[in-house]
Amino acid sequence: MESLLSEAQRSLRDEVRAFVRDEVPRQLLLDMDAGIVTYPRQFLEAAARRRLLGLRFPQEYGGRGLGWTDEIVALEEIGVLSTSLPCLYGLVSIVGEALTVFGTDAQKNRWLRPVLDGKLTVAEALTEPRGGSDFFGATTTARRNGDGWLLNGQKRFIVGAEGADFFFVYARSNPDTASHESISSFIVERGPGVEVQHVYGLLGMRGGGTGRVYFRDVFVPAENLIGGEHQAATVFNQMMIPERMTSAAGALGTARAAIEIAARYSDQRKAFGQKIRRFEGVSFKVADSVTRLDAAGALVYAAAHAVDSGDEPGRVRRLVSEAKKFSTDTCWQVINDAMQIMGGIGYTNVYPIERLLRDSRLLMIWTGTNEIMNLLIQHEYYKELGRAAPARDVEADAPGAELPEEKVYE
Ligand SMILES: Cc1cc2nc3c(=O)[nH]c(=O)nc-3n(C[C@H](O)[C@H](O)[C@H](O)COP(=O)(O)OP(=O)(O)OC[C@H]3O[C@@H](n4cnc5c(N)ncnc54)[C@H](O)[C@@H]3O)c2cc1C
Repeated sequence: MESLLSEAQRSLRDEVRAFVRDEVPRQLLLDMDAGIVTYPRQFLEAAARRRLLGLRFPQEYGGRGLGWTDEIVALEEIGVLSTSLPCLYGLVSIVGEALTVFGTDAQKNRWLRPVLDGKLTVAEALTEPRGGSDFFGATTTARRNGDGWLLNGQKRFIVGAEGADFFFVYARSNPDTASHESISSFIVERGPGVEVQHVYGLLGMRGGGTGRVYFRDVFVPAENLIGGEHQAATVFNQMMIPERMTSAAGALGTARAAIEIAARYSDQRKAFGQKIRRFEGVSFKVADSVTRLDAAGALVYAAAHAVDSGDEPGRVRRLVSEAKKFSTDTCWQVINDAMQIMGGIGYTNVYPIERLLRDSRLLMIWTGTNEIMNLLIQHEYYKELGRAAPARDVEADAPGAELPEEKVYE
């Protein structure tokens, strides 16, 4: 990927790499995994001090005005920290997108700026107990009440629920119309009627404050509506870009960390009198992992480039979904192979591979499962196929092509 990066991007990568190396204590990661730290606010504050939050957002609100091809460079480096910290880092990018694209100046000043300054923290409350994939079936309601709304319902699996100062929430504001015109999105500040419960024991991804959030007659003032009333479908579609790009890019760093540990180990560990990297069963796993990772990196970069260059929305959706699916699938395969390379010790907590494995499993499930990514990819591909510019009729390049009676479709 090196040759694809500009001088400025390499410098950004080095800057983020230094932050990850010097400012994130090992003990923080251990305490998060052990459940001793449930919400690492200090990590976001440290990133904000270095102006590393929300890199894509305008400088006047504390961002750097960069593009996706820059942000993925940073996200990959943050991904070395596995999934909890990168998720909290990514949430700034996700909720920041909604505020930047759909927020008014007043809303940006009130919420975006303090988030980028590390003074306020945020969570995204989308998934409900009845389902995450079927987003438009949301049942949390927002009823008009004076100059605002009353919110009722519950969301689950919300990262950052334990510590976030405010939530980005989707709720059904118009029960009488089609789903796509019935949902609104709001900023809901932690306050009366907002209750967070810590109910989950998680396989990995610990310490990120994942919880269930209840909204009981929460008054949300008019100025907290983001985007138009009942127009959250548009907001949702826009936010799926950062949702999926943050997962895709972070996965590259997580997998890279694992394969580096395993490759170094294979260059020292001996069996049958020689270094285990001399066995093809080991070194070819390294080769496959590095190749898959480079392919994933190239796809993530291509998706980032498509977003930055304003490619057509359908193709952006397909590429972003492909990047999320391929990168997170690859991450899981690479870490699994890294564990295999290390043998029994890879399964213990002497090395962090077991934690990376536990953490990374979630990447294939959240921000849209990889099955939902397939749904989107094939949908957009068929649409593109129908619009494809005339090209050579390759179907005719077969000896039997002129036997139409053999081309039976029903
Ligand atoms: C630790 C953790 C953290 C999370 N963080 C957040 C967060 O911060 N904010 C947030 O809003 N959500 C969060 N999520 C929720 C996550 O995004 C959802 O779990 C995910 O979208 C899947 O939804 P679900 O669990 O309801 O599964 P379901 O939607 O019930 O899906 C179950 C299975 O059915 C499959 N399926 C469903 N529909 C289809 C279809 N049409 N075609 C093919 N297959 C289908 C799915 O792929 C899956 O395999 C988190 C989840 C976890 C576990």
